[in-house]
Amino acid sequence: MAAIDIRAVQKSFGTIAVLHAVDLSIATGEFVVLVGPSGCGKSTLLRMIAGLDEVTSGDILIGGRRVNDLDPKDRNIAMVFQSYALYPHMTVAGNMSYSLRLRKFAKEKIDAAVSSATDLLGLRPLVDRRPKALSGGQRQRVAMGRAIVREPQAFLWDEPLSNLDARLREQMRAEIKKLHQRLGATSIYVTHDQIEAMTLADRIVAMDGGHIQQIGSPLDLYERPANLFVAGFIGSPAMNFFEGRYRRAGDAAFLDLDAGASISVPARPVADGFDLTIGIRPEHVLVGEAARPGAPVCPVELVEPTGVGAILHVRFGEAPLKAFHLGRTALRSGESVAVSLPPEKLLLFDTKTGRRLDD
Ligand code: ADP
Ligand code: MG
Repeated sequence: MAAIDIRAVQKSFGTIAVLHAVDLSIATGEFVVLVGPSGCGKSTLLRMIAGLDEVTSGDILIGGRRVNDLDPKDRNIAMVFQSYALYPHMTVAGNMSYSLRLRKFAKEKIDAAVSSATDLLGLRPLVDRRPKALSGGQRQRVAMGRAIVREPQAFLWDEPLSNLDARLREQMRAEIKKLHQRLGATSIYVTHDQIEAMTLADRIVAMDGGHIQQIGSPLDLYERPANLFVAGFIGSPAMNFFEGRYRRAGDAAFLDLDAGASISVPARPVADGFDLTIGIRPEHVLVGEAARPGAPVCPVELVEPTGVGAILHVRFGEAPLKAFHLGRTALRSGESVAVSLPPEKLLLFDTKTGRRLDD
């Protein structure tokens, strides 16, 4: 196991810069998830750590040692890909032992490593099968086994669950987390799926446009997003946003929403008339009996039951608003419901820079 340090790493393909001065330190045994939309540079960063791509500038250190010029095979890192990349003509055991055979490990050592990984991943009944006789989840488990037998300094995962259906993804996600709890291996996991990031990570690195937007624990990012990108990317259903303005009136302060409402809030160190984007998570919107006295009554446009609750699409003044209502609701589209946005749950962002204002 080893720590990984990424120092001012930049990457350009020709004249196009795809990663801009990335700095990131990953502690030994930590599980870090890189999350962001497709094309933001996640795989490129992972491939440079593995040695499959060269950095344009900056340094990568594994276990304190600069590895910029080391071949992938000398970095002692295992990578698991979305496409399992198994050898079709080899059995499960053959696939898992291949890299050790290549490195001329003793047969007893290979057998012991494969046997232990086989048990860890519940692959015992499948050892003699070839990949085409396995389901997607089983194939991905073999790919994981192939990584585990090498006892690498770190695991790199590039969207390993993206080819699986939703049910299996959920199951494999939990298996990966359990595996990490048992092995405690330094891991960097790339995904575009914010739920995977939230559920798996010790720390999340949110990326957009080749820049790190925020690094923090899952709940840090959820509760204290650094900017509009992170606020909008993390969470499902997504955070609601309203454009508006800060207004001081004596000791009182208000958020005047372009959508039509005005919300009384505690005074903030913000200039009168300052352009704000106001965010609120759907589960923080209060509806019906939970709404505060005098709350505006809003038309319900759509009700999406999820089982745990329902997502209500309402029209709040001029603006669309999603509210998550826990439990059963008798509301139907076409009806109306009282809606309040509790001031203590509002997040305020500088509309121009996108940055969240301090509480
Ligand atoms: P992600 O994994 O976050 O979806 P990638 O790291 O694969 O994103 O890609 C980041 C950007 O770099 C994209 O715009 C992609 O088109 C570009 N890119 C990736 N690999 C190459 C390459 N070999 N040559 C040119 N551009 C590339
Ligand atoms: Mg990718």
